[in-house]
Amino acid sequence: MRVWIDQDLCTGDGLCVDHCPDVFVQLDDGIAYVAVRGEPLNDPGGSGSLADVAERDIAAVVQAADVCPGECIFIELEPTFDEMTGS
Ligand code: SF4
Repeated sequence: MRVWIDQDLCTGDGLCVDHCPDVFVQLDDGIAYVAVRGEPLNDPGGSGSLADVAERDIAAVVQAADVCPGECIFIELEPTFDEMTGS
């Protein structure tokens, strides 16, 4: 599972960081970004910066997307084997 944030819609309330600080960070601009091993993916951000979500963080990331007031946390699921092979 991978996740990204549309920074144009982010309200900067920080709820995602509260839910999963391993995956979400808030920078000096007050906006949230996804992060990998503590490194924010803010260049370019948006759909150009997807973070892989570790198994242990999946539930928290889904919860964060659920409560996000900007509705700007987007989750992309890995395609299944059948989807990849078309069978
Ligand atoms: S919960 Fe959503 S709106 Fe709030 S800081 Fe995180 S991404 Fe932005």
